[in-house]
Amino acid sequence: MKLRDRIALITGGGRGIGRAIALACASEGAQVAVAARTMEQVESVAKELTDQFQVQATAIACDVSNVNSVTAMFGKVSEAFGRGPDILVNNAGIAESALLTRTDDDLWRRIQGINLDGTFYCMRAAMPGMIERGWGRIINIASIAGKTGAPYIAAYSASKHGVLGLTRSASQEVAKNGITVNAICPGYVDTDMTTRGIENITQKTSLTKDQALESLKKMSPQNRLVTAEEVAALALLLASEDGRGINGQAINVDGGGVLF
Ligand code: NDP
Repeated sequence: MKLRDRIALITGGGRGIGRAIALACASEGAQVAVAARTMEQVESVAKELTDQFQVQATAIACDVSNVNSVTAMFGKVSEAFGRGPDILVNNAGIAESALLTRTDDDLWRRIQGINLDGTFYCMRAAMPGMIERGWGRIINIASIAGKTGAPYIAAYSASKHGVLGLTRSASQEVAKNGITVNAICPGYVDTDMTTRGIENITQKTSLTKDQALESLKKMSPQNRLVTAEEVAALALLLASEDGRGINGQAINVDGGGVLF
């Protein structure tokens, strides 16, 4: 039980990668708060955690792009568990694509608001408690798009580059406090987000669904999508005592497509 007595807060914990991380944390004995905008999804994951692993789990409705909503979420974690999170996983995120010249202000703000501002708000809220307790883990789910660029994803890629900047700088500020701050950079993961991406490709190009899926698989030298469980396995290592020496890193889980 590598996370016994730890409290984990996972944003975007209602499905996909966030749900897989919540399950991994609970399987190692952590008490878990899952947060997202869709209450039914986080409630269903919290129930799954309690039923399967008999841990205390709570579901919180939160929009991470809204600072008041983030403050309220941290209040609810303290109410439920008696203190703030020991482990914060900033996983909530959206991906929308458009050519830069067609990226309007709303699209730009929506993506930065959730992916970048949301990560910042949650880190800022979590860190004082972690510093006080002398232990903490912050895991930011970025993307290989946080290290590279591609057509149609300027706003998304900029937001994830920003997440890496936050990760690296924060890791230096809190290294002496028993806290590590790391980012995970997945390639294409088999989740709803990628399914929506495939639908988008079929609408905007002449590719069929199968052809679009094949084109995404080819981005990996392993010619496959990553699973949410593979991302969760790395998150678990970073969250545990075993990962205490890993700090300020941005680790790719993409089958070797990006080599830096
Ligand atoms: P999903 O779309 O399957 O899940 C995203 C989760 O984030 C949902 O629970 C969603 O719930 C939540 N979320 C979205 N916006 C907000 C918000 N404003 N406030 C709170 N929660 C929010 O995506 P994935 O699981 O695939 O992605 C998770 C993370 O991994 C994202 O940060 C994504 O950028 C990153 N990633 C994904 C990759 C992929 O190929 N899928 C590749 C690389 C990185 P709700 O909508 O109810 O709020």
